Amino acid sequence: MSTFCGEEIGKLGFGLMRLPRNEDKTINTDEVAVMADRFLAAGLKYFDTAYVYEGSEEAAKTALISRHPRESFFITSKLNANAAKDEEDAKNQINVSLERLGTDYIDFYLLHALSENNEKKYEEYGLWEYMKQLKAEGKIRHIGFSFHGTPELLDRLLEEHPEAEFVQLQINYVDWDDPIVQSRRCYETAVKHNRPVVVMEPIKGGTLADPPKPVKEILEQTGSPLSIASWAVRFVASLDNVKIVLSGMSNLAQMDDNLSYMADFKPLDEAEQEVIAKAQEAFRALPQIPCTACRYCTGGCPMQINIPELFRIMNRDMLFGNHEDSKRRYANVTKDGGTAGSCIGCLQCEGECPQHIQITDWLGKIAEAFE
Ligand code: SF4
Ligand code: SF4
Repeated sequence: MSTFCGEEIGKLGFGLMRLPRNEDKTINTDEVAVMADRFLAAGLKYFDTAYVYEGSEEAAKTALISRHPRESFFITSKLNANAAKDEEDAKNQINVSLERLGTDYIDFYLLHALSENNEKKYEEYGLWEYMKQLKAEGKIRHIGFSFHGTPELLDRLLEEHPEAEFVQLQINYVDWDDPIVQSRRCYETAVKHNRPVVVMEPIKGGTLADPPKPVKEILEQTGSPLSIASWAVRFVASLDNVKIVLSGMSNLAQMDDNLSYMADFKPLDEAEQEVIAKAQEAFRALPQIPCTACRYCTGGCPMQINIPELFRIMNRDMLFGNHEDSKRRYANVTKDGGTAGSCIGCLQCEGECPQHIQITDWLGKIAEAFE
């Protein structure tokens, strides 16, 4: 069992961002309850939700918190300044989260998704000081922040905020040396500041569970009995300073798969690291839009363009080349409007994108390909 901020916690965290849904789109809390039980039975304890994950905190209350002794697990939530009208509204998010979760404390509380675009707001609202106050009051036990910016900003934030006990970073084997996401440099910055790392998006929004053919072939040729997704999760979990790897599990099968290699975690050996290096090389040879479907860009789009869905179709088209199938998918997604060609170029979306994608350029290419 690894230690994280002085707590005994296994290396896998249950991300509650993409929970299973019923046909009416409500969260299937019965299935979440079974998933939570299996997770706990495997000796794992870390559950990750956030104020802005719709219905997730309430589902955590129903499926986990009201069914298990409070001290038998750790719950995480996040304060999101972008989702607040003003300072007071931001500071009230903890009260809303506690109410939704049905608990009187949160184990790990994070400032959510800091980047060059929003970190000033967190300062202006005095939210770092506020986190210390919440900890002193016993409403939260540990302070952290999740991060989508440059290593330079991370370096400054970790220097200026010793109260941050840990940092949550986006790391996966594809983004490791990506010149935009810079996973490796962010990780090394956290190591330099001696802060443990929680990893989000280890399978890159699900794409590394079903990677393009040349990458899949490299992984399959190893003959490993473990799943394709396991390579991505084990890669990040093998980094010394990574204490928790979050997996946003959406069904029981994904939970069982994760538990099969993470309940009793073994780091990648030298030969397995070489396989990852080959997979990274194969990925670099493929054209892709690095969208993780986080949807930070969509809420403010005046033309209601479903940006991540259009990017998913374009990526699929570039990887698999089945253009007629892509055209059908595109027509279906845009049948009620929100075509790529309707973009007015206001650039709202680009300011929100943690992956720094040139969204409007890509929408132009998508309009050309499918309209
Ligand atoms: S630039 Fe286009 S896609 Fe982005 S928010 Fe504006 S209209 Fe929407
Ligand atoms: S384009 Fe950027 S902000 Fe929008 S869903 Fe993709 S990664 Fe997220």
